[in-house]
Amino acid sequence: MSKDIIVAIDGYSGCGKSSTAKAVAQALNYTYIDSGAMYRAVTLYLLQHNIDPAHLDEVLNALPQIDIRFVTKPTSTPPIYETHLNGENVEQTIRDMSVSERVSEVSAIPQVRHAMVNLQRNMGAEKRVVMDGRDIGTNVFPKAALKVFMSADLIERAHRRKEELEAKGSTATLEEIAENLAERDRIDTSRTENPLVKAVDAIEIDTTHLEFDEQVEKVITLAQEAMTTNYTKL
Ligand code: C5P
Repeated sequence: MSKDIIVAIDGYSGCGKSSTAKAVAQALNYTYIDSGAMYRAVTLYLLQHNIDPAHLDEVLNALPQIDIRFVTKPTSTPPIYETHLNGENVEQTIRDMSVSERVSEVSAIPQVRHAMVNLQRNMGAEKRVVMDGRDIGTNVFPKAALKVFMSADLIERAHRRKEELEAKGSTATLEEIAENLAERDRIDTSRTENPLVKAVDAIEIDTTHLEFDEQVEKVITLAQEAMTTNYTKL
């Protein structure tokens, strides 16, 4: 007998959480939810409206104006996942370096986190989701049946991210990318509100020397095990 579960994938910036989570969701026929995209969409909105994240009152006024939705086309191969900000597809724009440079500052604002965490909990209410982020196993779904914590060597992460960004026409250098990943890790792990930390019951996967398919297989196997055990968990 197997049950529906929540798969929580947390970890450092750029270690392949999103691509792994997408592939796992596809294999399990679960919904993939990119929680980082939500913080990125808020950041993009603030940038587009010239709102300085340091001006808390302006950020709080802006929050109710921000509508974030995910549009998925699961029948496409591979499935298409789009993040929509106030009705507009911003899936590509939220990955720009201009957003990456400010997102950790924005995501450290407690009121922003509360709003996003509420949305994330609603999206996972029916389970059958794979959600990736920084605080999914520790805060959003502390009872998730499977918690994975992904890590990888910083330079390896920067190389992988550079390839992705280059494919989209970005000219960011390896140093700039590595600096951004390290700086986001620093802010994400040191913020007061739900910092990035491995949940005590999370299973750590270091992807430095793993092929993509290997890391996906590992998580799928763990998910299948969790579906048939852990009956007290979500
Ligand atoms: O996952 P991604 O790298 O796109 O996330 C962008 C940023 O959003 C992270 O660096 C982090 O600051 C923030 N984030 C967060 N909590 C999450 C997901 C992302 O604070 N659950």
